[in-house]
This record gives sequence, structure tokens and C-alpha cells, in this order.
Amino acid sequence: MYYISKTFEIAAAHSLSLDYTSPCSRLHGHNYRIEVHCRAEKLDANGMVTDFRLVKDRVCDVLDHRNLNEILPFNPTSENIAAWICSRIPNCYKVCVEETDGNRAIYVKDKDTCTE
Ligand SMILES: [Zn+2]
Repeated sequence: MYYISKTFEIAAAHSLSLDYTSPCSRLHGHNYRIEVHCRAEKLDANGMVTDFRLVKDRVCDVLDHRNLNEILPFNPTSENIAAWICSRIPNCYKVCVEETDGNRAIYVKDKDTCTE
């Protein structure tokens, strides 16, 4: 089995729709630190699991320097963002989204494949 991961940062704003009072309901920004993990039993014709370029094209370029509420069709919590990213990257099985130091959400497509 082959594993790859890519870590990158994006700057973005969001406000959360919550059923309790929170400053997170007001528009604010984060320098998100995101890890994308992919795996494959066999490499493609180019010798890759997933081209890192796809992460830039399908995630970074879409979200960076944006208001996430205007881009994403769901409440942009870190958990929801992680699942959305996972769905856009071929062979992706796990995504970590860190909003601020120490606050991270992890989405794993299939819990049996978690390697941590
Ligand atoms: Zn926030």
C-alpha cells in the first residue's frame, strides 16, 4: 500500500450557524492548516497515488482568501470542511483541518483505514 500526504495553509473567513450563542457566529478569519492523506494499492500510470496538483486545483485555489460561507453549500465548520475536501480528492481517506493551534478536526472516510 502506498500513502502520501500534503500539508498546506489557506487563509479564509467564515461565520458559523450555531444553535447557541458564540463569537464564532460572527464573521472572522483563520489561517487554516490542512493535511490531506491519500492511499492506493497500485500506482497510476504516472507512478503516483494522487497528483498533489489536484489538491491545489480543487481545494487551495477554491478556498484560499475567500469567505467560506459564500463558497461552500453547508455550515463551514472544520469537520464539514474536512469531509468536503476528502470528497474532492481521488484516493483521499483522511483530512485534518486545524483552525488555530491545537484545534483540529479530523475526517476519516473509513474508520478501519485510519493509520493513527
Ligand atoms: Zn472560526
